[in-house]
Amino acid sequence: MNYKEQSHIVQTYKRYDLVLEKGEGVYLYDDKGDKFLDFSSGIGVCALGYKHEEFNTALKAQIDKLLHTSNLYYNENIAEAALNLSKASGLSRVFFTNSGTEAIEGAMKAARKYALNKDIKGGHFIAMKHSFHGRTLGALSLTHTLKYRKPFKPLINGVKFAQFNDIDSVKKLISEKTCAIVLESVQGEGGINPAKAEFYKALRKLCDEKDILLIADEIQSGMGRTGKFFAYQNFGITPDIIACAKALGCGVSVGAFLLSEKVAKLSLEAGDHGTTYGGNPFACAAVNAVFKIFKDQKILENITKLSPYFEKSLDELVNEFKFIKKRSGLGFMQGLSVEKSIKASEIIAKARKNGLLILPCGANDLRFLPPFIIKKEHIDEMKEKLKRALKEF
Ligand SMILES: *Cc1c(COP(=O)(O)O)cnc(C)c1O
Repeated sequence: MNYKEQSHIVQTYKRYDLVLEKGEGVYLYDDKGDKFLDFSSGIGVCALGYKHEEFNTALKAQIDKLLHTSNLYYNENIAEAALNLSKASGLSRVFFTNSGTEAIEGAMKAARKYALNKDIKGGHFIAMKHSFHGRTLGALSLTHTLKYRKPFKPLINGVKFAQFNDIDSVKKLISEKTCAIVLESVQGEGGINPAKAEFYKALRKLCDEKDILLIADEIQSGMGRTGKFFAYQNFGITPDIIACAKALGCGVSVGAFLLSEKVAKLSLEAGDHGTTYGGNPFACAAVNAVFKIFKDQKILENITKLSPYFEKSLDELVNEFKFIKKRSGLGFMQGLSVEKSIKASEIIAKARKNGLLILPCGANDLRFLPPFIIKKEHIDEMKEKLKRALKEF
């Protein structure tokens, strides 16, 4: 490992012993020239893979025009990016951030401000067990995993955790102070766990009845990952607020939170929220290029078309290897759960030795987040490489 990294980087990550130097298409190359098939996309970010010609051309053109202006000035890119997101989501108002966790913070502030109209001060949140919403203190308050939370307590008060996909457990936690219910449309901690349509619909009904806001964290599951622009669109509901990031900029750091017109009117006003970088011309050029390429190159259609084959290929591994308990997921967000005796990290290390990059999402859970541009043959290659790794257990 690099001496400078060891002595000068805050050691919050145990990095793999692998130095990635360049990428092309769905492959990454290390400093020794070894080639890796990427089914991780930089944790769900690089949806267009690497060295995508149209994407890179659009970024280069914007670099030579203008990178940043601050939010004191209007620019065409932010307006177009907002329109793109609004059309894709069905929510009319967009605030651009720099990351996922910052999008969640904004969503939380909007929900608290909305509740203030009803004289609810410091509104409470209901989040879900096994949730992940980010690492800043607000988002961490909504994140269930104890090891992430514990060293930083006290977090914001009034957060309760319900059982995912169990409407009665949510109902039990509602109080007069509840301002919002927050969930990932597809959970990605402790296995990949999609919401059930009846659960989402029941949440929508509950929120409508009680004038509580429904917040969907679409940071990982959104921007096409499940074959729809946003995963909630698989379940026939529209949330009041959504948080988005990861694939939104395909490698350029940009996130967003979106508000319905009703929430926007009754929540954040001039001076209530801000960001220096958020939504700058460069980040928004990236967002607009992503939307254009998704449309021109029928990216969502590719996901919908290949998902059944992807699922079938993983199911074949479940059948072949007794220690794999199950597959679960939606579209290009898939997981395999293995028995407790086998660590996900060990499988991932063996996969890496066989030229395949995949992710964990729990001690015994593997996560697959391929770039959206994969072809059938890449699924076959993934399966072959993973099979070789699995045979070592
Ligand atoms: C990655 C992720 C976040 C946090 O996003 P950052 O950009 O890392 O701050 C929040 N929620 C979900 C569901 C995520 O996958």
